Amino acid sequence: MFKRILIANRGEIALRVIRACRELGVESVVAYSEADRGARYLELADRAICIGPARSDQSYLKINRVISAAELAQVDAIHPGYGFLSENSHFAEICRSCGYEFIGPTSEAMELLGNKNAARAAARRSKTPTVPGSDGLITSESEGLAVAREIGYPVLVKASAGGGGRGIRQANNDQELKRALQEAAQEALTAFGNPDVYIEKFIENPRHVEAQILADAHGNVVHLWERDCSLQRRRQKLVELTPAPNLSLAKRKALCEAAVRLAKESGYTNAGTVEFIVDKNGDFYFIEMNARIQVEHPVTELATGIDLIKAQIRLAAGEKLPYAQQDIKHRGFAIECRINAEDVEKNFRPCPGKIEELIAPGGFGVRFDSHVYAGYTVSPYYDSMIGKLLATASTREEGLAIMIRALEEFHIKGIKTSIPLLLNILKSPKFAAAAPDVGFIERHFMTK
Ligand code: ADP
Repeated sequence: MFKRILIANRGEIALRVIRACRELGVESVVAYSEADRGARYLELADRAICIGPARSDQSYLKINRVISAAELAQVDAIHPGYGFLSENSHFAEICRSCGYEFIGPTSEAMELLGNKNAARAAARRSKTPTVPGSDGLITSESEGLAVAREIGYPVLVKASAGGGGRGIRQANNDQELKRALQEAAQEALTAFGNPDVYIEKFIENPRHVEAQILADAHGNVVHLWERDCSLQRRRQKLVELTPAPNLSLAKRKALCEAAVRLAKESGYTNAGTVEFIVDKNGDFYFIEMNARIQVEHPVTELATGIDLIKAQIRLAAGEKLPYAQQDIKHRGFAIECRINAEDVEKNFRPCPGKIEELIAPGGFGVRFDSHVYAGYTVSPYYDSMIGKLLATASTREEGLAIMIRALEEFHIKGIKTSIPLLLNILKSPKFAAAAPDVGFIERHFMTK
């Protein structure tokens, strides 16, 4: 096991990793920016090292500064958290070549999966269903038109190097497709330096269901079941839960087993998430794999009793998975609500500022993962998420009642948060009745 780990991240995920390190008897060192100086979670680490100014391109994203902190603190490994450098294969390679284990997959696996066209090909090789579409890259307009006519409109043109929703265009006919091919390629070239595009059938009102996997460096891969993350606004997840509603056990199993096959096919190690869209018939299609720990990982922890951050650290240290697939039990229901500092009524504008009062909820089945407290100032420089409220119970009905009770108990003054919207959604009869798709929140809860 490692003696000391550098945490190249901030906020709740930095605190989450500090806690895991403490429990494992591993020392933690946090690299922080000037904007996070004085944040109380830094005191819980064994050491904290300032790596630069508030702007993340001068601190949390600056590879040479992170590596300098690792050198200074003489760590054995680096945990990248999520966001920032976590999916940067170049960073993973530099860490390892400098002698620091990167807590995540190999840079080769990250590169393969970071390219959507290559990831789609790997999915096909592993018999993981992909969205019907082109066999590979589209190299000419006529080829694109032929593919679209064969699978039928509407289609999506997607950039192979795309991410964060960029480089995607919808087309409903030949005319639109010609434009979409050009625009997607141009946007991808500008944003990612790579104009490659491919075509996928557009799936109407899909749900977003993802499978959590863990893989060791000895060829063993297991899944820890799925999370339904369809409750989104503009592709930002707001609520995640498990099990996915209205999906049979057989379908859930098939989806998770497909994720395991893809992880094996791509030589994946450590924790990862395979994302699928699910159509009205419950048929699922691979869309991408995230080569990092995800924000919503505690949903899986509550449902399985497995600490994913400790698992990541142990796997990076070369340990074997201590459980086989049949040892992993899904114990009921778990849900996460993202508490964001934003003004829902003003088009979700971020709402940084000082938290004057804070009393977080607790009680049976409640977990709150957060780095904030009364007196903490939410910085305008970073993501507006200030914490994740989770609930778990043996049934969905009971779990939702716990979550609603906990959201109602949540007392926070000084900044606006997403709590009123979350309550509106969870209390709505429409939510109780349906298995929401990715457009659910915008259709029912966005008036303008
Ligand atoms: P990015 O990497 O940019 O986030 P994804 O390929 O993951 O792009 O797609 C982003 C979102 O777009 C998905 O979560 C889903 O809601 C939607 N989407 C992706 N592919 C399709 C498709 N073939 N049909 C309908 N919606 C899709």
